[in-house]
Amino acid sequence: MDKPQDHRPDFDRWPPEGTRAKPAWGAADWPTTIGRGVLGRCPNCGMAPIFDGYLKVHARCLNCAAPLGDMPSDDAPPYIAMLVVLHVLALFVVFFYKGYYHPGIFMAGVLLALLALICMGALRMAKGAVIGILLKLGMKREVPNG
Ligand SMILES: [Zn+2]
Repeated sequence: MDKPQDHRPDFDRWPPEGTRAKPAWGAADWPTTIGRGVLGRCPNCGMAPIFDGYLKVHARCLNCAAPLGDMPSDDAPPYIAMLVVLHVLALFVVFFYKGYYHPGIFMAGVLLALLALICMGALRMAKGAVIGILLKLGMKREVPNG
């Protein structure tokens, strides 16, 4: 009988090996890249800050000129920050409803202010990490024609 030939068509692997350009940035390994982003340093060189203010990103790294401003982090950082912080908050909610902990009005206010500060810090750390991931993957923002 006819046995199908063992062939490897060209479309087995896409894009074909050797045709994909390596990203120019992000030579460091993954933990280093993400760690630098979490700490607010350039994920590529680690020598300059990512942020120009609270969440505004420098268009280019001040040290190595990596295109930090072209990385479309969009909605990922708030999602990651909420995912992490609200898991910690859930512990307090369970304690409250189980009757283990009943803060007074002053302590409740302090905890809410603390929660807001933790959310702001987590948002900045998550944005740095996402920019590091995008820089390593070479996923720049598409520039419209014109
Ligand atoms: Zn840099």
